Amino acid sequence: MDLSAAERDAADPLSGYLARFLPAPGVAAYLDGNSLGRPLSASVERVESVMRTQWAERLIRGWDEGWMDLPVRIGDELGRVALGAASGQTVIGDSTTVLLYKVIRAGIGLRPGRDELVIDRDDFPTDRYLVETIAADRGMTVRWIDEGDVTPERVAEVVSERTAVVIVSSIAYRSGFLADIPAITRLVHDAGALILWDLCHSAGVLPHELDAWGVDFAVGCSYKYLNGGPGAPAFAYVRADLQNEFRQPIAGWLGSARPFEMGQGYEPGPGMRRVLSGTPPVLGMVGLQDTLALLDEAGLAGIRAKSIALTEFAIALADELLPDAVLATPRDPDRRGSHITLDHPAFAAIMPRLWERGVIPDFRRPTGIRLGLSPLSTSFAEVELGIHAIAEELAAHR
Ligand SMILES: *Cc1c(COP(=O)(O)O)cnc(C)c1O
Repeated sequence: MDLSAAERDAADPLSGYLARFLPAPGVAAYLDGNSLGRPLSASVERVESVMRTQWAERLIRGWDEGWMDLPVRIGDELGRVALGAASGQTVIGDSTTVLLYKVIRAGIGLRPGRDELVIDRDDFPTDRYLVETIAADRGMTVRWIDEGDVTPERVAEVVSERTAVVIVSSIAYRSGFLADIPAITRLVHDAGALILWDLCHSAGVLPHELDAWGVDFAVGCSYKYLNGGPGAPAFAYVRADLQNEFRQPIAGWLGSARPFEMGQGYEPGPGMRRVLSGTPPVLGMVGLQDTLALLDEAGLAGIRAKSIALTEFAIALADELLPDAVLATPRDPDRRGSHITLDHPAFAAIMPRLWERGVIPDFRRPTGIRLGLSPLSTSFAEVELGIHAIAEELAAHR
């Protein structure tokens, strides 16, 4: 190893941001920032202030004084800072699962006569379950991209003039494989179909250019690299020129054109409002603003550079200290997100010991340890300590 972890931390232009996060007593290495991001101190203050001065003092008047606009206001900011999306195309709404459901159904409505949905066999369970049940409900067929990385070639094999919507995760939740978003988007469009990107593992760590890439739809979590907090609501992006015809299936009052008229008959609201359904989860979404401010300050190019440096360092350490483990993640940094997964038959057995030591990676059945390296809240020292701990526990397990 040419440089020690301490030298890497000392040379890291983003190291100053580590102190913006609340401390976690007893945690020596938090390596799961892609399952649940750490809280920013600023978010604690913001949530407290919203409770004390907005909720407590303004009471019901708070809705007219800004709460109702938060889904589109924070959505626009997220679009600008993290997605390469001009305003009016991003909202904060329900869970990722519910937004995926709404967008897939709306996408099917935009491609009448087409009866196939495309998804990857290895995609996150919620994405697959939704696609399978929607297909069953609508009498459609699922065309699977079989196990392995989602490359443009493999997507091209399954899209056709029958495809309505293709659903792909930008970064595979298990392997960390980063799909070629512009190339896949183009080839899906060449087949006349629509593309929905699940950005759960790329939002906040990868620069996106959704507008420039011509992406139709995107949905993603805000509690992973965006540090919105447990169960923080997800975001959806709908390209501007698709919004007029966009019809989603959960026709609630707050997605309607004139919610407070309480009138007869649903008429979809203007622009991204129509993606919404019910009352916005205000307390759940306000903290997201602090991460967005931080991303804006640090810049996604620098964040991506540190993400690559962290994963590169982790892979080099694993090569050296965990020679029996199998790297499930691409070695090419251009094809990799911000986590790496290592497989070893004894990993399941050593997980409890790691957690007892305050070393917190994720475990993915059957044999994968997943290290989620959130660039603004993870140090090189934590990566080193974590991989040394894994090596020690493996040795002790034998
Ligand atoms: C984390 C994750 C989800 C989570 O969906 P929720 O509705 O927030 O539980 C969905 N898809 C992918 C790819 C994820 O990584």
